[in-house]
Amino acid sequence: MTESCEVAIVGSGFAGSLLARVLAVLGYDVVLFERGTHPRFAIGESSTPLANLSLERIGIRYGLADCYNLATHGRWLEHFPELRRGLKRGFTYYRHHPGKPFANRGLDSERLLVAASPSDSLSDTHWLRADVDHHFVREAVAAGVDYRDCVDLTSADVGTDSVRLAGSRNGAPFELRANFLIDASGPPGFLARQLSIPSGLENTETRSALVFSHFDGVRLMKDVVPGLPEGPYPDDWAAVHHLIDEGWMYSLRFDDGVTSAGFLLTPKGIASLKSSDTSDAGTLWRAMLERYPTLASAFADATPVMPIAFLPVIQHRLTRAAGERWALMPHTFAFVDPLFSTGIAWGLRAVERLALAFESAAQGKRVPDVELLTRYDAALGAEADQIDLVVAGAYEAMAHFDLFAAQAMLYFTTVSFAEVSQRLKPTEAAAWRGFLGVGDPVLGPLPREALRRLKRIADSRGGVGTSDSRRGFKDWLTHAIAPRNIAGLADPARRNLYPVDFDALIEGHALLGMTRDQVLQGLPALRGIGAPA
Ligand SMILES: Cc1cc2nc3c(=O)[nH]c(=O)nc-3n(C[C@H](O)[C@H](O)[C@H](O)COP(=O)(O)OP(=O)(O)OC[C@H]3O[C@@H](n4cnc5c(N)ncnc54)[C@H](O)[C@@H]3O)c2cc1C
Repeated sequence: MTESCEVAIVGSGFAGSLLARVLAVLGYDVVLFERGTHPRFAIGESSTPLANLSLERIGIRYGLADCYNLATHGRWLEHFPELRRGLKRGFTYYRHHPGKPFANRGLDSERLLVAASPSDSLSDTHWLRADVDHHFVREAVAAGVDYRDCVDLTSADVGTDSVRLAGSRNGAPFELRANFLIDASGPPGFLARQLSIPSGLENTETRSALVFSHFDGVRLMKDVVPGLPEGPYPDDWAAVHHLIDEGWMYSLRFDDGVTSAGFLLTPKGIASLKSSDTSDAGTLWRAMLERYPTLASAFADATPVMPIAFLPVIQHRLTRAAGERWALMPHTFAFVDPLFSTGIAWGLRAVERLALAFESAAQGKRVPDVELLTRYDAALGAEADQIDLVVAGAYEAMAHFDLFAAQAMLYFTTVSFAEVSQRLKPTEAAAWRGFLGVGDPVLGPLPREALRRLKRIADSRGGVGTSDSRRGFKDWLTHAIAPRNIAGLADPARRNLYPVDFDALIEGHALLGMTRDQVLQGLPALRGIGAPA
């Protein structure tokens, strides 16, 4: 017998579960499929202000108090102390050089700190995904979603009036007819295989491999490099990025002391290693640590709490994100790289967009308009390209810390402008605004131009260019971002240590198209947009 539902969602990561739940709240009949069981490990842990803004908006619009409460570290601790998380005050970067300890040259150190929040209580978090995703599944079930785990889906037949899914659960075959199918299964994508959606990876720039795990006993950078000048927040309570010749390493500390860490290695970086160093994931991990004494010290007593794993290529990209009866969530459509932590924010933005599309269809034909799906498809394509360009530029810039710090300003200007304007001038249309400056006449073209310039500089002399070419890049970028720089970024007087600067914001009121008084009145909105009813 064939069962039926209105919306079938494949994959119960936070994106699939949260969208399933919102659709259930809107009155849709939703089935959520998961091939595994919860709790389960998932990578992709560091949230950002834009991610939390989306989470707050979802919480408020659909009356989901937990979403609102999980959007700051303070509210999370108060309401969900049992869900593991880490305090993330901002983005910390250090440049290391092979065979040399990190050089603490005081304010001239190769160190960049950009605060993302003004206080611990308002700060972002690292999500222990096993706990967070499990929470969202439980809440989806409580909202009426028909959740089925341990499912093996074998086919999807997308017709003009429905989608037929077939598979088995615990060995028992089933068939389901749905009006609409959402693939939230991540790469390589269940539906992409069924529909033979071609890959678009060859037209993208970024390539990296990953060796990673979770560790106990990682030492804090403040203990490994004592005496660093005080920054806008304690260096370690952040998404910590260690830039190295072969790529970079992330280190995300959870409040319970466990640290999620991984090396992202470029093809050139991998090629520079001895073949004996790459024989297995553990050997590669140790070989990378041995090259960088400060990292070796930080991880000297660390023990992996799960096996160290290796992924030779982490990028993927499809050429279509939606059709008449189906849509892919961003992580299913494309993934670039963890640099700049775009994944959670982009996924939540898509939850908002699809939820709005189903909301408009609720009184009518109960599937999103083709026009909206076409818009969704175009948005995801343009945004995946933009993420790729920003990240690829940053990889080029890693050769020299000044170039990297300049390129990072492009990212931080774009996201701070988006966050502040969306918080101070909230509108339903915000969910459809282009991610990472897509569609913005000032910021939109910059990542491509920055990458072009960085490639030219990198080719000029040994990868790092001349001091003139580096200064030229910095000057060009500072000038180019100025019309959107409401956060006082790219300011040499800051010595690469950027707090949340409300004074710069107030001074920059005209950049937001607001008066000084309007910005002053709006400041409380930067601390949260009001609790859900
Ligand atoms: C190394 C790395 C680091 C990252 N770091 C960050 C970061 O710091 N910050 C950030 O914002 N983003 C980061 N990301 C991106 C982040 O991981 C993703 O954006 C996020 O996991 C997407 O969540 P999701 O719910 O869409 O999908 P997923 O988390 O991929 O969940 C997919 C679910 O679908 C299930 N599934 C898969 N196939 C099937 C099937 N055939 N049938 C049924 N179920 C299926 C899976 O079991 C899983 O539960 C990182 C990614 C990588 C690779």
